[in-house]
Amino acid sequence: MKIKVPVEPEKKPVATTPADITDEALWCRTERHLWKWVKDEITVGTDAKPVEFRRHNECLRCKARKNRTISARTWTVQRSRIAYPDLYLIKGAGRHHSSEFYREQMARPAHTESGAKR
Ligand SMILES: [Zn+2]
Repeated sequence: MKIKVPVEPEKKPVATTPADITDEALWCRTERHLWKWVKDEITVGTDAKPVEFRRHNECLRCKARKNRTISARTWTVQRSRIAYPDLYLIKGAGRHHSSEFYREQMARPAHTESGAKR
């Protein structure tokens, strides 16, 4: 008899408390991201004039990626999306207050920013 073994999808590590997230994620949560421009993509219409720009940024610290679409007509942001690295987001507990991140940061042995670089 053949037994079918279900193929498990590759499991990503999941953070469920502030203690689970990376040092880099903690720093970005208390001090904000260090966005660096990567590239702009221009979408042109049939008249060859720009319709919109897509701006791609990456955080130098935690490697989150931010994409924004900016209208070339109104120069306003139409869409904004951030893709976070593993162990940045905390699943299932709602919003966390910044005090939790400061407390966790100070509890770690090397809590200087240079100590966060691996
Ligand atoms: Zn970051």
